[in-house]
Amino acid sequence: MPSLIKEINSKILNKETTIENIVNEYLNTLKSKDSSINSMLEIYSDEYIKEQIKIAEKMLEENKTTLLTGVPVVVKDNLCVKNQLTTAASKMLANYKATYDATVIQKLKDAGAIIVGRSNMDEFAMGGSTENSAFMQTKNPLDISRVPGGSSGGSAAAVAMGGVPVSLGSDTGGSIRQPASFTGIIGLKPTYGAVSRYGLIAMGSSLDCVGPFANNIEDIKIIFDIIKGEDARDATTIKNQELELINKNLSQNKNRKIIGIPKKFIDQDGVDSNIRDNFYKTIEQLKKFGWEIKEIELKNIEKALSVYYILMFAEVSSNLARFDGVRYGESIKGATPEKSMILSRSEGLGEEPTRRSLLGTYVLSSGYYDSYYGKAIAARDYLKDEFKKIFQEVDLVATPTSPVFPWKFGEKNDPLAMYLADIFTVPANIVGIPGISLPTGKVNVEELKNLSFGTQFLAEWHNEEKLFTVAEDLGL
Ligand code: GLN
Repeated sequence: MPSLIKEINSKILNKETTIENIVNEYLNTLKSKDSSINSMLEIYSDEYIKEQIKIAEKMLEENKTTLLTGVPVVVKDNLCVKNQLTTAASKMLANYKATYDATVIQKLKDAGAIIVGRSNMDEFAMGGSTENSAFMQTKNPLDISRVPGGSSGGSAAAVAMGGVPVSLGSDTGGSIRQPASFTGIIGLKPTYGAVSRYGLIAMGSSLDCVGPFANNIEDIKIIFDIIKGEDARDATTIKNQELELINKNLSQNKNRKIIGIPKKFIDQDGVDSNIRDNFYKTIEQLKKFGWEIKEIELKNIEKALSVYYILMFAEVSSNLARFDGVRYGESIKGATPEKSMILSRSEGLGEEPTRRSLLGTYVLSSGYYDSYYGKAIAARDYLKDEFKKIFQEVDLVATPTSPVFPWKFGEKNDPLAMYLADIFTVPANIVGIPGISLPTGKVNVEELKNLSFGTQFLAEWHNEEKLFTVAEDLGL
C-alpha cells in the first residue's frame, strides 16, 4: 500500500497544496467521524495547531523539511505534550498539564509533524478494549457495536477511520498490536529500549514501549526511524555504539527467511477457529515469497501470561504510588489531612488501576515475594533464553495477534477473561523483542464480515527490519 506520508510530502514540496490545507482536510475527517467513534479525548485548539503549522511552514520556506513536515499525528494520552492536558484517561490526572514534551513528542515536533490531539485509552494503559477509560468508550470503526481493542484503542481507531495517517501508542503487553489487529491496521511494538520512554506515563517500566500505528508499512518505518534512538533521559535506551555491534551481528542473517510456528501454542483451546485458519493461510502465502516455514516449540511460552500478570502488577503498584494527590493528582478538597491521600486515591483511580495496585503490593509483600515476584523473574530469564536459542534457527516467530475477535461492549466483564486475550502478545514484552501486527484477512462469517484479523510476527532484539520485510512481502 502506498505511503500516505510520502504522498503528503510530495504534495507539499510540489506546492500542490498547503500544509494548512492538508491539516484541515484530515481534521475535517477526524472531527466528523469522531462524532460516532470517540477516538479522541481532545482535538487541540485551533491556536495550538496553527502554531505548529507555522513552524512547519517555516521549515518549508527554509528548505528544512523532513518527510513528516506538515503531517497530522495523533498521540496516546499517556505521552506528555508540553502545556497540554495529559491525563492517561484517568480522573486522577483530569486537570494535569504536562510541563515538558516526551522525547518522542519532541522528535515529532522537530521533524515538523503537526500533533492534532490526544487519543482515548484504557486508564493508565490498563486493559485491552479502551472500555476502562474514565471518560468515554471508543468504538471500533469496522463495527461500532464492538471494541477497538486497547489500551491504545483511540490511536488505532483514529488511523483506521482515516482521521490521521499515523499515530502513536504504547505497548506494555500488547496495547499497540492488539488494537491494530482489531481495527485492521498495522501496529509496531519496537524492541524494549529502542525508543525512549521519557515522558511516557509509566505502567510497567520494564515492559513499556512507544510505537506507531499506520495503514501501510512504509509509514510505520518512517515514524519508527524518527522516534527511535539513544536518549540520555532514559537510561534503558540502547547506546548507539552497542546498536552498531548488534546490527553487525544481525547482518549475518540478513537474507535468511525462516519463520517459526509454535504450533502447540497456537492450537490450544480458546483460539477462535476462524482466526487459526486465517493464520495458517497467511503463513502458507508467505512461501511464495521465499519464506521457509518451520514448526518450533517454545516450552515456556504458555507461562508468559502468568509471568506478565505478576511482573506488571508489581511494577504498576510501584509506578502508581506517586498518584496520591500530593506528589501527583488531584487532592480531594475538604478532606482532613490524614484522609486526603486515601480519598484522593480512591476517588481518582478507577477499578482496574486499583485492582492492579492492590495485587501488585500483594505479590511484592514479604512472604509472597519469593513465590510470586521471584519466580516470575526467574521464568522471564528462561523465556529470554528460549527466544535467544530459537532465533538462531529462525528469523521470525509468528502467531495470531489475538486469540479472539473484537468483542461487543460489556461482553468481557470478568477481568480474567480480558487478561486471557493477551496470551499471544505478552511474550514479546516479557523478553523485550520487537513485534508487529499485520492486517491479514477478513472474516467469512456474516456476523463478523466487516472485521479484520491480524497476524503477529516477532523478531530478534533490534531486528525490526525483518518485520518490515515480511510486511512488504505481504504487499502492505
Ligand atoms: N491488555 C494488557 C493489559 O491489560 C496490555 C496493556 C498494555 O499493553 N498497555 O495489561
